[in-house]
Amino acid sequence: MGLRLYNTMGRSLEEFVPLNPGKVGFYGCGPTVYSFAHIGNMRPYVFHDTLTRFLRWSGYEVTHVMNVTDVGHLSGDDDTGEDKMVKSAQEKHQSVLEVAEFYTKAFFNDTERLNVVRPTVVCKATEHVGDMIALIQRMEARGFTYMAGGNLYFDVSKFPDYGKLAMLKLDELQSGARVDVDENKRNPLDFVLWFTKSKFEDQALQWDSPWGRGYPGWHIECSAMSIKYLGESFDIHAGGIDHVPVHHTNEIAQSEAATGKPWVRYWLHNEFLIIDKGKMSKSKGSVLTLQTLVDAGYEPLDYRYFLLGGHYRSQLQFSYDSLDSARSSRRSLADRVLALRDNATGQGESDPRLTTLEHLDGAAKARLDAFRAAMEDDLNTPRALAELWGVLREQNVPAADALAAAFEMDRVLGLGLADLRRAKAQAVDPALAAEINELVARRAEAKKARDFVSADAIRDQLKARGVILEDGPSGTSWKLA
Ligand code: AMP
Ligand code: ZN
Repeated sequence: MGLRLYNTMGRSLEEFVPLNPGKVGFYGCGPTVYSFAHIGNMRPYVFHDTLTRFLRWSGYEVTHVMNVTDVGHLSGDDDTGEDKMVKSAQEKHQSVLEVAEFYTKAFFNDTERLNVVRPTVVCKATEHVGDMIALIQRMEARGFTYMAGGNLYFDVSKFPDYGKLAMLKLDELQSGARVDVDENKRNPLDFVLWFTKSKFEDQALQWDSPWGRGYPGWHIECSAMSIKYLGESFDIHAGGIDHVPVHHTNEIAQSEAATGKPWVRYWLHNEFLIIDKGKMSKSKGSVLTLQTLVDAGYEPLDYRYFLLGGHYRSQLQFSYDSLDSARSSRRSLADRVLALRDNATGQGESDPRLTTLEHLDGAAKARLDAFRAAMEDDLNTPRALAELWGVLREQNVPAADALAAAFEMDRVLGLGLADLRRAKAQAVDPALAAEINELVARRAEAKKARDFVSADAIRDQLKARGVILEDGPSGTSWKLA
């Protein structure tokens, strides 16, 4: 069949044909590093990762580029509100770059725990201001900009296809736009390419430019950095669905105005993670981070499993009940893999002898083919997961074949199934062992004091971390599940 992707540009499923055979250029909008990413923010990055993994699995050489926004993003995507980075730095009494560095590290710590492969290129906005200025100059030379009140604006009336991604005409987009406070704009949809005036006084980072000392608008970084690393036309651009009407619409206008060429071939957008029937957002109180889940006893990959259980273009309702069922499914999956591994392992060997893929046949091959077909159908991960389960449950498939197919599928799903083998064989990290011993001792004390509530709470806490306790006559021993 071949891969088919739902292209927001045109709103239809399209066969994926890359610009250059065998290669894919992919740009995914990255984080604004002004606070911890919440679990909703993680959804696009797991989605981008699954897409990249699948493309690579299918044989493409993928260049995956992700930006890190450390300047220029206002709380309103349409040039309104406060500067997110500056506000956070003021609250924390730190410099903008310190804040950026801290949250960038925290972000990659989260994505690594979710088994997200690091993009080929990670590029910071502050390190590419020269590229942004050069791109803006190209737009200026082609007549798409104007200066007003000290800022340089993009004139949307000069770009006739401005609403093509959002599928709205200019007047329809305008009626959806916020009441604009910026009187310098000729049209409320015009947007800032370079600030020298508004919100300028407290902006810590400033650069010289042909339009005066100042700093870039938010949208220009994605145009400039994607073109720098992927060329003036490339294959795939992805981001959250919220980016369709403003951010991505403006990115297209800038890029195509500057180069005069079609820019991106396939636009992919993930739907939101919904919590408490609302959009999960950092500005509302209830922000859950990956660490919140870990502190509550979940493993990061439970959350990855939960995300894969929904199609990226469907809204996904978060609840602890759903996360619980993701966790227990993932544990059963791990148990099943380990059992099959024992079954497939020859005497005295620690690794199973897997069937090579060319020799897979019968039901195992059919499952692998169905898995591929599910992923080729606009990355249908719920169906792909069902095929993973299917092959592990097949009655008449030799264990070595089932495992070979499952590990192959997991190269795309990223649930760490192949690593389960190593985890079992590995010695326990001494720091972890000391921490477990300490908790086991506290539990023994609690039991001695007949505080069974605390004792049980410690047992549950350890269990959630995969530690099994065994009470015996000479005390409690433990092992990792
Ligand atoms: P930010 O770091 O605020 O620029 O957001 C990073 C990404 O997270 C953007 O692509 C947003 O579209 C996405 N995003 C924000 N909230 C959610 C949510 N609740 N569910 C899914 N994606 C989200
Ligand atoms: Zn972007």
